[in-house]
Amino acid sequence: MVSAKSPPHPAEAALFVANGERAHWHDQTLWFVRSKRDRAAGTIPEWEELRTNASRIKQYTLAHLAELLEQFEENAKKNGAIVHWARDAAEHNEIVLRLLQEHGAKKIVKSKSMLTEECHLNPFLERNGIEVVDTDLGEWIVQLRKEPPSHIVMPAIHTKREEIGELFHEHIGTEKGATDPLYLTRAARKELRQRFLKADAGLTGVNFAIAETGGFVVCTNEGNADLGTSLPKLHIACMGIEKLIPKANDLSVFLRLLARSATGQPITTYSTHFHGPREPGCELHIVLVDNGRSDILATDEFRRSLNCIRCGACMNTCPVYRRSGGHSYHNTVPGPIGSILGASADPAKHYSLPHACSLCGSCSDVCPVKIDLHSQLYTWRNKLVLKNLLPETKKAGMKLAATIFGNPWLFRLLGRMGRFWMPKLPRFLVYNPLNPWGRQRELPEMPKQSFRERYAALRASQPPTEPPAGAPPARGHHH
Ligand code: SF4
Repeated sequence: MVSAKSPPHPAEAALFVANGERAHWHDQTLWFVRSKRDRAAGTIPEWEELRTNASRIKQYTLAHLAELLEQFEENAKKNGAIVHWARDAAEHNEIVLRLLQEHGAKKIVKSKSMLTEECHLNPFLERNGIEVVDTDLGEWIVQLRKEPPSHIVMPAIHTKREEIGELFHEHIGTEKGATDPLYLTRAARKELRQRFLKADAGLTGVNFAIAETGGFVVCTNEGNADLGTSLPKLHIACMGIEKLIPKANDLSVFLRLLARSATGQPITTYSTHFHGPREPGCELHIVLVDNGRSDILATDEFRRSLNCIRCGACMNTCPVYRRSGGHSYHNTVPGPIGSILGASADPAKHYSLPHACSLCGSCSDVCPVKIDLHSQLYTWRNKLVLKNLLPETKKAGMKLAATIFGNPWLFRLLGRMGRFWMPKLPRFLVYNPLNPWGRQRELPEMPKQSFRERYAALRASQPPTEPPAGAPPARGHHH
């Protein structure tokens, strides 16, 4: 696919860190969530076993995806649901619009669904005269701010309560200057209640769909999916095809992992099971969406990224995400998993994302479904080179480094020159816009000797010693 490039991540991150206070606060807030996750995981002795099980169940599912999806469809139909298949975002949006139009629905309430964000459903429906209200509090805040979510679990984590107070004052008439979270939340609840009552249809995402039963589970902390599907007669549930699990028994493994990994809670407040339409006269539609997932499934290196249960733990722990904010990624899903999914969907557009990573591996350590996130990001970097998608500056730098490291005499010569000249050069020659590394860092003091010189000098100054008593015999030594 050929498309315009997103703005490079470092440039967007620079905008975010320009407000030092906010960047620091963002970093601390996410670290707090990460610490809560650690404590919650620590209360379960079999945590690692759960992760292994979850990963195996997902691998099994992906290996049998076609059959399991058909099994799901069959069982969902038996439950009275109507199943639709969408090849891509456009088809998904068309299906949803057609269903709404067929039912004469003009106003819909939606609970949080990253899939509908990925398909840009809201603007599409609005262009077609449908009013969409996001009913998850964080999601509603970003909707009012006309922004995309910056995190997949906490969509408005980049906003401060002062800003939310201001926003609510403007949109729903709360008192000017009010910042009390309880007051603001109550005001939002009152406002959203009216939207629920007036809605013609409820739209939800799907956290887990169960092939064996044809049912699915939606997890929210606010009960907004429940309210949104209890009042209107039409419920449309949109799910990516990777949301499937084979059996109802598998569910407990994922429910135990999801909430603890996401927010450090033992369980999500509402885990609602749907099996068919609510009552006679109501309709339940399930839209199964591919949108590039089969292409990822067909790759050996990135298949496991489809294990993702969208808990957000990899974002909370990522030193790059915490310090650059979700919007800097320009992708529906940000952070480590978002960088993999973005690059897989459109490498030319998201060429900078696999580099937004320190390769520290913390994401892979916390991921509840054991995705080898940092290895996949590293693999993506290799792929970008092969696809000729490295920026020219990086290419030139890499070529230069390869020449220096490939020629020992040149390496030694440059080292010697550097040690001699660096301390004598005027500062602007070292710390300037051509050296972004030096923007926040200082080079260490130049040593007098290189490691090789020191090593050779040490060897020369020390007489050969006898090995200490009890040391293993040197190779070739006979007794
Ligand atoms: S990749 Fe793992 S840690 Fe990141 S959101 Fe998905 S399940 Fe959670």
